Amino acid sequence: MERKIFHGKIKPVDIAQALLGEFNQGNLRAQTLGQSDKMIVQIGTEPGAVSGGQTAVTVTIQKLEDGIMVELGQQAWMGVAASLGMSALAALRNPFSLLGRLDDIAQDIENLQISERIWQVIAQSARAAGVSTDLSDRLKRVTCDYCGAANPIGEPSCIACGAPLGKMQPNTCRNCGYVIQAGDKKCKNCNQDI
Ligand SMILES: [Zn+2]
Ligand SMILES: [Zn+2]
Repeated sequence: MERKIFHGKIKPVDIAQALLGEFNQGNLRAQTLGQSDKMIVQIGTEPGAVSGGQTAVTVTIQKLEDGIMVELGQQAWMGVAASLGMSALAALRNPFSLLGRLDDIAQDIENLQISERIWQVIAQSARAAGVSTDLSDRLKRVTCDYCGAANPIGEPSCIACGAPLGKMQPNTCRNCGYVIQAGDKKCKNCNQDI
């Protein structure tokens, strides 16, 4: 499972609609479940599609205090590998047999790229909404432990009372948007070096 966090003014429905628009066509079917704060988008091959095997993947979009968290589940395969394998075997025995299976192969390869395309659509909608995996300006404020004043990130001492702000400097993982703490060497979500 892969998870990304987008900080800023974006709602689960924004992503859900973008995914529906992109994937509910051709050989694929997409449907949404859930309501405003937590939406699930299921994307899969149309049952009984003529070409290729069957595949399905679930995207969960959850509202956070100041943004959304998107989780992409493991893509499930029903017969795609088998379909590719059959093509390879048939080709070994008789290269001309491939001619009859070109549709299957093209569709299987397209299906293999669904997860990648899902992240692309999500990144596009995030960009369009002006949000990113960077921390939003509001969360970038550091609250002073002593007087409660909100300070801009990077400020060494409180602008109101002068108390040292020390290590209270929130930031996010460049790769996935997960909020990282001072002293973290690796992202706890995606394991990327910080
Ligand atoms: Zn203060
Ligand atoms: Zn990360």
